[in-house]
Amino acid sequence: MAAQLLKGAPIAERIREEIAAEVAALRGKGVTPLLVAIQVGENPASAVYVGQQQKAAEKLGVSYRLHNLPEDATQQAVADFIGKMNGDPEVTGIILQMPVPQGLNARELQALIDPAKDVEGVSPANMGWVVFGRPTLAPCTALGVVELINSTGVNLYGKEVVIVGHSDIVGKPLALLLLDKFATTTVCHIGTGERGVLPDHVKGAEILVVAVGKAGLIKGEWIKEGAIVVDVGINRVGDKIVGDVEFEPAAERAAYITPVPGGVGPLTVTMLMKNTVAAAKQQKGLG
Ligand code: NAD
Repeated sequence: MAAQLLKGAPIAERIREEIAAEVAALRGKGVTPLLVAIQVGENPASAVYVGQQQKAAEKLGVSYRLHNLPEDATQQAVADFIGKMNGDPEVTGIILQMPVPQGLNARELQALIDPAKDVEGVSPANMGWVVFGRPTLAPCTALGVVELINSTGVNLYGKEVVIVGHSDIVGKPLALLLLDKFATTTVCHIGTGERGVLPDHVKGAEILVVAVGKAGLIKGEWIKEGAIVVDVGINRVGDKIVGDVEFEPAAERAAYITPVPGGVGPLTVTMLMKNTVAAAKQQKGLG
């Protein structure tokens, strides 16, 4: 393997040390960030994420409270609960765990979260600040990918960046965050794939970020020599978790490549904690 492994844990660890120091300083001023997670019904995938949040919060001295609402909770009931958390001055951060049960409109519910407490950066106001190039609370995975790319020391100015996947929480905000660094940013998606031109775009990428959720979508031979490859995808294949990029052949060509698992994952929850502390500081007039 020619590529250097771009592991998330050491970068996350460094950021967490900074966060822990900030939390200690806040506590010294009588402020404890309180993150409230709202889980509607049961979901094994979000249960894993809740566990990670709980553990990270505990380690950093952030208070964490999980509220379970029943599977059959109505849109209005969830909206009312979000309203209650918005109005509670002790609560400084709110997450609505995804996915919510079918029949609920997740987007509309997320839009109800007070932007000041929206630590996942999913409310229209916070997305809007990303568009304006003044991210306050930006989506956590997109922020994590930026940290991973920055850790290589690359200068983004004018670089050819290709992002595969245009979701609201990863591809779109990431494109805007990187545009802001004057990267030349191309966003590919299902339309690109179905038109058969995905390899053409990927082959030109000096920095490639893939967030699709299809194992082996990106062939190793498409990777440009010396590229930075960040694989956000999570796919279960048999008893293994793999990304969207064919790892071994891609690692032969890339300069840096994230492992899956162990690349982006540790940074997502870390950036959530960073946003949580930033939100608490802002609300208490300490930001
Ligand atoms: P999504 O599932 O909302 O959207 C998938 C994207 O892939 C869309 O833009 C779609 O157009 C595109 N796509 C689908 N088929 C394609 C094809 N053949 N060619 C090109 N593009 C294609 O995206 P998401 O919520 O950002 O999730 C993407 C992946 O990233 C999933 O595997 C998810 O589990 C993972 N993820 C990981 C983390 C983490 O912390 N590691 C966080 C978020 C998402």
